[in-house]
Amino acid sequence: NLSRSFKLRQRGLLFSATKRLKAVDGISFNVAPGEMLGIVGESGCGKSTTARLLLGHIPASSGEIRFGGERVSARVDANWRRMRRHMQMVYQDPLAALDPRIPVGYQIEEPLIVHRPDLSAADRKTLVADVMRQIGLLAHHGSRYPHEMSGGQRQRVIIARALVLDPELLVFDEPVSALDVSVQAQVLNLLEDIRARIGFTGVFVSHDLKVIRQIAERVAVMYLGRIVEIGNVEDIFANPAHPYTRALVSAVPVPGRSRRSRIVLNGDPPSAVNVPSGCPFHTRCPQMRATCRSIRPNLVETGGRAVACHLVNDPSPSGIEAI
Ligand code: SF4
Ligand code: MG
Repeated sequence: NLSRSFKLRQRGLLFSATKRLKAVDGISFNVAPGEMLGIVGESGCGKSTTARLLLGHIPASSGEIRFGGERVSARVDANWRRMRRHMQMVYQDPLAALDPRIPVGYQIEEPLIVHRPDLSAADRKTLVADVMRQIGLLAHHGSRYPHEMSGGQRQRVIIARALVLDPELLVFDEPVSALDVSVQAQVLNLLEDIRARIGFTGVFVSHDLKVIRQIAERVAVMYLGRIVEIGNVEDIFANPAHPYTRALVSAVPVPGRSRRSRIVLNGDPPSAVNVPSGCPFHTRCPQMRATCRSIRPNLVETGGRAVACHLVNDPSPSGIEAI
């Protein structure tokens, strides 16, 4: 039941007002050991905030996160440091995440210096060399600076830096969005490969359902801070239940399928500062009914899938058509 809101100060001519932006609004999900869960949605849906909450990078407004039964908190203490070693984040923008003045080999080694004081310098060098080999970087790449590398190589450095601690959970925040499509495919294949070899639990955030389909087994679809559908990726692709998921799936090009089957939604998602009443998707939903404006649908589980939509969960005329 995780929530996170941010205060926005709006300065007007006569007074300044404080509004609350609900970035994440009461979401619940679990990730099984060894599983990769995708989180998909448009920008501003709360997926990156969810990623940062999971690792305790920012505190939750309410609700909680448990990692192997232990509560994850954003308070930096001994407990946080111990857990942090097992939970690592892979960021979207390697240029922003890397220090331009430091050779990448040292940046890959740095987490070991922080989290593994038990290791000797020689042990650290061995681990760095191992992880660089795994990630497809050559030994001499270690002495390079970030600007001397390609975008794909920099993203490999970021992944190597996360992997060097041998974490149990990796959270990826749009790790391939900044890359060219051909490089995207290389990095995704590499991730699949590493996961098959060493096995880790993952949460993979992306706006791109195609990418999620390649990399994840389950997917949570987010809209305005809430999960609207969650379940097995292939089931959802074959048979999306929520109208928003249907639109997302229809936008993924499939060879042989006519472009006319694409569902085009009106406009952009509304701002998370002014979340629409009732079902937050009602302002764009092709199947909207009068009830949808006033009653908020809960996420209801049906057959291994959970969906938050009146049409799916209560298709009876009394619920929908009567008004
Ligand atoms: Fe559309 Fe209504 Fe379902 Fe919301 S509850 S997704 S508005 S049909
Ligand atoms: Mg984001």
